[in-house]
Amino acid sequence: MAGPETLTATACVAGCGPAGAVLGLLLARAGVEVVVLEKHADFLRDFRGDTVHPSTIEVLAELGLAERFLALPHHKVSTVGFVRDGRTVDVADFSTLDLKYPYIAFVPQWDLLHLLVSEAARLPHFRLVMEAEAYDVRREGGRITGVRFRTPDGDHHVRAHLTVAADGRHSAVRRAAGLRPREFGAPMDVLQFRLSRRDTDPDEGYHLRMAGGRAVAVINRGTYWNIAYMIRKGGYEELRGAGIQPLRDDVADLVGFLADRVGELAGFEDTRFLEVRLNRLRRWRSPGLLLIGDAAHAMSPIAGVGINLAVQDAVAAANILTRHLQRAQHTGEPIPERMTAAVQRRRWAPTVTTQALQRTAQRFGIDRALRAQAAPDYGAIVRIPLVRKAMSRLLGVGVRPEHVRLPPKSR
Ligand SMILES: Cc1cc2nc3c(=O)[nH]c(=O)nc-3n(C[C@H](O)[C@H](O)[C@H](O)COP(=O)(O)OP(=O)(O)OC[C@H]3O[C@@H](n4cnc5c(N)ncnc54)[C@H](O)[C@@H]3O)c2cc1C
Repeated sequence: MAGPETLTATACVAGCGPAGAVLGLLLARAGVEVVVLEKHADFLRDFRGDTVHPSTIEVLAELGLAERFLALPHHKVSTVGFVRDGRTVDVADFSTLDLKYPYIAFVPQWDLLHLLVSEAARLPHFRLVMEAEAYDVRREGGRITGVRFRTPDGDHHVRAHLTVAADGRHSAVRRAAGLRPREFGAPMDVLQFRLSRRDTDPDEGYHLRMAGGRAVAVINRGTYWNIAYMIRKGGYEELRGAGIQPLRDDVADLVGFLADRVGELAGFEDTRFLEVRLNRLRRWRSPGLLLIGDAAHAMSPIAGVGINLAVQDAVAAANILTRHLQRAQHTGEPIPERMTAAVQRRRWAPTVTTQALQRTAQRFGIDRALRAQAAPDYGAIVRIPLVRKAMSRLLGVGVRPEHVRLPPKSR
């Protein structure tokens, strides 16, 4: 972009994570003029989650993308569980459900986002602006009518009938709209880093291990392990103060096969601190604005379901709003607030239920593990067949799975 520019679109989506990319694609596919703003120059960041659940793969199949998605390098994992004090507990087993894709596919998120935006880029109604950071909303007569954003060239704005905040858990659009989520708290933050992977390592997608007041998750990225080391909230400075060796020792203790290469971690400059939040807005909308994904309800990493929820929000929003957006595109009629309210109503129960599950796991699982307190016998609970089946469904499919309802506009 050279010089200040005003873009116009029917819908402006701030943020091209899973929620924004899926919504942008769905709207453009239905002939709605959409501008998606992404503040980073690329999608290549390690902190993005890697888990694509059965219901999200089904959405990709409904978009005609399953084959291309499954051709990306990935690992399939059909159980979700953890190892605590040397004992393995499987919480969910998707192979017991009648699903077309009975597994989580671990795919680097940049590959998933590239797939979605490359598909969208073929559509005439889609425009993605990279390095475009939304920092304020535009208002006219009490309605939000777009966003102000900056690129390396300066400040610009988008005028739109509907603005969608899909800019994640630190949403700038949410702040500019004056909305504040209710915080539920999280007992941990995450330190993320890489260690190399060898051919002799286990060929698994994911390990979560907890023992002696420490917890670490390792994700297989082919040539390296992406590691999420959990720290008690507020414990980061103390960890840093102790130097890098205790961190190396913890990883070596918890994940024995990595002991021979923890030295690759030269210092804290090789790590990245990630804040975990769990919160939810009471109202996911204002006149002219809808919030979805983490911008409406930040998810904790527990069970790796945040991407799934974000995608499901996007599908629900497209199903409910597309016809109104198509009308607005032709007549200029504003999007009725009852329709953005309908999106929140549709997604409320799945969000509240999943967050309740994460809060329980945080309180009785992670918090106790990080305090090295005795844990309940989770194994006995999840061995009950009904509990296991319910957990498998809840994690793999969610409470109210969404399906793509609108056919693509013929071109
Ligand atoms: C440490 C950690 C690990 C996690 N691991 C997993 C996991 O493995 N699996 C899982 O399912 N969930 C995981 N989660 C949760 C998951 O990351 C989120 O629930 C999910 O990414 C939400 O998707 P989203 O599209 O709403 O937001 P995001 O993924 O946060 O995407 C927001 C996008 O908006 C962009 N953006 C931000 N601000 C602006 C702005 N002002 N203007 C323009 N663009 C902007 C960002 O660059 C980003 O691309 C994890 C969370 C944390 C904190």
